[in-house]
Amino acid sequence: MATIFTRIIQGEIPCYKIAEDNDYFAFLDINPLAKGHTLVIPKKESDYLLRMEDAELSGLIIFAKKIGNAIEKVVSCKRIGLTVIGLEVPHTHIHLIPINAISDMEFSRPKLKLSDAELAEICELIKAAL
Ligand code: AMP
Repeated sequence: MATIFTRIIQGEIPCYKIAEDNDYFAFLDINPLAKGHTLVIPKKESDYLLRMEDAELSGLIIFAKKIGNAIEKVVSCKRIGLTVIGLEVPHTHIHLIPINAISDMEFSRPKLKLSDAELAEICELIKAAL
């Protein structure tokens, strides 16, 4: 059965899409730790980054670099934190999170409650910065 992220790629489930190419896809995390929190994923399903083919993994990182640099242009932060967890969704994804302190990467913190309008706005800003 397709993962929830594959269903997002296929347009069955809505998302705030930032970008895609033939192999990779980026969209806003729906329960963000920070404004601009984005997920980058391979289109080909794989459940664990450390088991990806080298070429696919390097492509994913290069794609994440492009997206992270765009986020950094439009969200005020010290840098973009990258993390891989994958305990919730078994489809490889890298979290890109604007951070100012180590605690901003703490996933046990309460998530932000952003409105649809706020998510749409930050999505458009990041897209424009690409
Ligand atoms: P994890 O697998 O632990 O890295 O967490 C999965 C992440 O995916 C969480 O940060 C969720 O908020 C996010 N997520 C789950 N479902 C969706 C969705 N439909 N759209 C956007 N983000 C999602």
